Amino acid sequence: KAKEMNGNTYRAFSSEQMGPDMKKIRLENDLYRALENNELELFYQPQVRLSKNVVIGVEALVRWNHPLYGKISPSEFIPMAEDTGLITSIGEWILEEACSQAKSWQEQGLCSLRVAVNISAQQFQRECLVETVKEVLARTELAPEFLEIEITENTLLLNTEETVTTMKRLKNIGVRISIDDFGTGYCSLQYLREFPIDTLKIDKVFIDDIKAENSSAPITTTIIALAHSLNLHVIAEGVEMLEQQKFLQANKCDLVQGFLYSKPVQASEIPEFCNK
Ligand code: C2E
Ligand code: MG
Ligand code: MG
Ligand code: MG
Repeated sequence: KAKEMNGNTYRAFSSEQMGPDMKKIRLENDLYRALENNELELFYQPQVRLSKNVVIGVEALVRWNHPLYGKISPSEFIPMAEDTGLITSIGEWILEEACSQAKSWQEQGLCSLRVAVNISAQQFQRECLVETVKEVLARTELAPEFLEIEITENTLLLNTEETVTTMKRLKNIGVRISIDDFGTGYCSLQYLREFPIDTLKIDKVFIDDIKAENSSAPITTTIIALAHSLNLHVIAEGVEMLEQQKFLQANKCDLVQGFLYSKPVQASEIPEFCNK
């Protein structure tokens, strides 16, 4: 192979030949056009109230349909969007798409369906975030209480002062705030008193091994109790098995989300979940 490459013959790389670095560079380049090429798409995963077995909301999860590589996970391209500054435009698109979808479901009769939108650390720190949220709600005519913003504990660690201010301004608008991947960050619990939070979202790692030996069941029950004693809602993510559901039900977890109920699906599939 190396010999073929010698000499003056030029050969373009085929996609299989691209090493991981090449792929990353290519993806970063292509990300600039992803929005205008309509390559981003939101999927939605139902959130279920355990006591009533009804869908009360959905989490919006972005996918990138790349013309060459197919579906690319947000864990791969959101960090790139943050590095390149594209997170501002991509984040605004996600927010607007999710809110306008929620409004449209409400108009179809799914009256109280909420939508949860993930906001990355960088996006949360942009000065324009609160203004953007306001504008998007105005444009889409979604009532603020139907939008929940998901941020991770690690977002709270950065610029604590500004973060509290941003959270308070968001609360003043009337949107809800949820702490994603709760229990896996490096935050002290102090912030739970100081920050205006509505929901704790128990990370999947604690749900995964609920039934294992040396399991994290005590951590899960403690997070549920903590949330309730602070008057917060609590949701478990990554619920895949019935025995996890039973455990969460027995321990009075409010909401659940996971493959047991549904994978993230296209918007058109959501109404049938709600009418069940
Ligand atoms: P996350 O917000 O903690 O989302 C949960 C992830 O777990 C999603 O992966 C979801 O598809 C997956 N999941 C849900 N239920 C189950 C289950 O029962 N079993 C398993 N194995 N997985 C489950 P996804 O969609 O690949 O997203 C990964 C992460 O990327 C998200 O973690 C979030 O941090 C980020 N992300 C996704 N969408 C967005 C977005 O629109 N904006 C931003 N800034 N970040 C996003
Ligand atoms: Mg999330
Ligand atoms: Mg999560
Ligand atoms: Mg997680």
